[in-house]
Order: sequence, then C-alpha cells, then structure tokens
Amino acid sequence: MNVIAICAHPDDIEFNCAGTLLKHIAQGDEVVMVSVSDGATINHNNELIRSRENAVSEAKKAASIIGAKLYILNYKALDIPCNHEIISELESIINNHGIDTVYTHWYSHTNQDHRRVSGSVLAAARCAKRVLMWEEGIPHSSCFSGFKPQVYIDVSEYMDKKMDAVRAHESQIEKYTEDIIGAIVARAQYRGYQMRAKYAECFEVSKLVNEGFPEKKL
Ligand SMILES: [Zn+2]
Repeated sequence: MNVIAICAHPDDIEFNCAGTLLKHIAQGDEVVMVSVSDGATINHNNELIRSRENAVSEAKKAASIIGAKLYILNYKALDIPCNHEIISELESIINNHGIDTVYTHWYSHTNQDHRRVSGSVLAAARCAKRVLMWEEGIPHSSCFSGFKPQVYIDVSEYMDKKMDAVRAHESQIEKYTEDIIGAIVARAQYRGYQMRAKYAECFEVSKLVNEGFPEKKL
C-alpha cells in the first residue's frame, strides 16, 4: 500500500495521525508526508512566531522518526490557497508515488489553512481508493459542525514513537506547553477506550472503496 499524509503546517500530521503512519510502515507500506507550507509564521505585530529554519528542521527530524519521505512545498502559512495550482502540485505527488491511501485535514476545521488544504487534497486525491480526514488537534479543534469518528485505528504499539515525533516539534511544545502532550495522549486513550484498545486515532471518511467484496462484472 502506498500512503500519503498531507497537511498545512509542519506538526499537523505528527499530532493527528503519526500513530497510523507508523502502523502503515510497520506493515511494509510506503509512507509520504507533505506539508504544503514551511510553517514560518509572524503575528499581527510582525513578530516572528516560528522561523522557517526551525519548522523545517523539526519537520525533518519528525519524518525521520516516523520513517517517511517528506516534502515541504512553498505555500505561505496562514494564507494557503485552494486553487488549481496547489491541486495540480498535490496530484502530481500522489500520481508519482502511486498513492492509494490518503490522510488529510478535516474539511470543516476552523483553521483556514487546514480547511483549504483539505479541499485541495479531496480534489487532488479524487482517484485514490481511500481518503480519510483526521480528527483535528488541540487547541483549535472546535467547530459548529462536529467531527464524526468513523474509522478507528488501534495505534497502541506505536504511541511511544508517535510522541517522539510530536516532541520533535520542540518549538510547538514550548508554545502550547506540556499540556498539549497530555491532551494528545488523553484523546488517544479516549478513542482507544471506544474500541477496546489502549490508544487509537480516529478518522472521518471522504472516500472508501470497498475491497471486501469481489468485483461484479456488469
Ligand atoms: Zn496546522
């Protein structure tokens, strides 16, 4: 199986679906990670929130812990578009790697970058067999339309390594404090409890080709 996870900013994948990617790798799947921005951000006062150098270095470290190939594209964080250019670029990566399984942001998220990347990925991955949207992370996951957990993946065996990948984003842990570590683990425990596992990650389905039945020729 060839798998891709596509996010807006370095750390989104690690926080939300690294356990699942580690499980794919353990079963011999090829995994590609794409961050469409380098994560460099400034605030309204033009003060640097996260430097490109820092974010890219942390993203590389995390990808190497996970064991995935990493692409960082050149779109600007906080202003990532959803247009033909980005859809074509993502489609090329998906085609070049013969991707059949795609993970990305939840389509209804409040974060504009996350929402636009999700829209671009759903278009770019329209020919893939499986397109799943992860449960968005803390601390900005609230939205008027609730996330519907539909696919549960037991990541108990991979939780320690997932948290190593999360901790590779030192600048973000510093920003959100250790509370985010506790929240990520607690969410995985909660989702795990719902499926009788120690830890789980959850996804909402955009597309899932049913391979459980033989094809019927018309
Ligand atoms: Zn993000």
